[in-house]
Amino acid sequence: MKPQYEPKNMQQRLGYLVEECGEVLAAAGKTIRWGLDGFNPEPGASRETNAEWLLREIQDLKGAISRIETYLREHVGLEADAWRREALDEAERVRKGTR
Ligand SMILES: [Mg+2]
Repeated sequence: MKPQYEPKNMQQRLGYLVEECGEVLAAAGKTIRWGLDGFNPEPGASRETNAEWLLREIQDLKGAISRIETYLREHVGLEADAWRREALDEAERVRKGTR
């Protein structure tokens, strides 16, 4: 992916995921209709086969999944850490009798 297209926040990462899901669906649909060796017959279109197209879109989707998965894991981790810190602070207040 070109650096200028790299998703920078959660919304952009989700948008990229949705786009790539759609592209995999399009390539899978064409492959079901026209076969693995089929290709776009329109003049000027690339001669990439449906198999090549589907593989390319699956790779893109894996990248999109990885990006949102990393973001969500970091987000969930931060939430869990904040909750844990709060619980420890509360336990400390109880221990000191300042609660
Ligand atoms: Mg794609």
